[in-house]
Amino acid sequence: MKIIDELQGAETIAIGGHVRPDGDCVGSVMGLYLYLCKELPEAKIDVYLEKPAEIFDCISRIKDIKTEFNNKITYDVFIALDTVPERLGDFVPLYEKAGKTINVDHHVSNTGSSDVNVIEPQRSSTAELLYELMDAEKIDEQIAMAIYIGIIHDTGVFRYSNTSPRTMQIASELIKFGFDHSKVCEDTFFEKTYLQTQIMGRAVLESMRFMQDRCIVSVVSRRMMEFYQVTSKDLDGIVNQLQSVKGIDCAIFMYETGTLEYKVSLRSNGRVDVSAVAAKFGGGGHVRAAGCTMNGTYHDNINNLSIEIAEQFRNE
Ligand code: 5GP
Ligand code: MN
Repeated sequence: MKIIDELQGAETIAIGGHVRPDGDCVGSVMGLYLYLCKELPEAKIDVYLEKPAEIFDCISRIKDIKTEFNNKITYDVFIALDTVPERLGDFVPLYEKAGKTINVDHHVSNTGSSDVNVIEPQRSSTAELLYELMDAEKIDEQIAMAIYIGIIHDTGVFRYSNTSPRTMQIASELIKFGFDHSKVCEDTFFEKTYLQTQIMGRAVLESMRFMQDRCIVSVVSRRMMEFYQVTSKDLDGIVNQLQSVKGIDCAIFMYETGTLEYKVSLRSNGRVDVSAVAAKFGGGGHVRAAGCTMNGTYHDNINNLSIEIAEQFRNE
């Protein structure tokens, strides 16, 4: 299937991604947006997303992203990328009233409830999957860079086990377009501000191991975020750092989002299915990377997560 075949006759098209958009989400929505603007110059095409982190300002036309919508507008097609429609945040109503809905995603927890569903959990990233839905001849340097950003962010720059031979082939095709791929990796993935580095250091310093040192957890409170003058966008990468510790099968990182409310990130080396753990608490994701929002004190949350993780260890 090619995405363009599903858009025949569409005059208005909206593209959206998940709340707290990550690199795959931003790269995918912008890659598709740039592609469709070229392919369907007569159509009205809009992108709806929470404001992405500044590191993504290098993506062409990123400022076209709309963070609010007019209630009067109804789109012929809404394309939800890298998420189940429920996680489109403020834009769920736009999705619901669209004439036709399309969902392109690689999350194993996504069961596909749209009119057209392209859900392939073996794909490294939604961006990789989108590449397959595009006509390679119609891709240009700017589109290629957006897709490349999506792929590197969800594979940890080709490090995670979701990287397949096909992922590498696609990346190879993409870098032929000539954008500075090394700079893109450095500027959007590896580089951290001093404050981001400091809070990561603090989170690692205060982490604790438990369950025979197979699990590790760290928590960042609102007060700590205020002290370091950081927002949730500055906490990316902390959970991966925790998971890198030798001997760890499962890493948990949570930060306070409100009174007795925490955003939880889970990572594993494959011995724990963290997608299943997150799903118990209303979240989802992949076997090795998942997340959810939990209510309660962080001690309660760690206890509740531990019960689910211990259950999986028992079944080993
Ligand atoms: P992160 O920990 O980086 O926020 O997310 C890891 C993975 O889990 C991503 O693929 C992300 O989309 C997914 N994820 C994180 N939080 C949630 C959530 O609350 N619900 C669902 N369905 N997926 C989530
Ligand atoms: Mn993704």
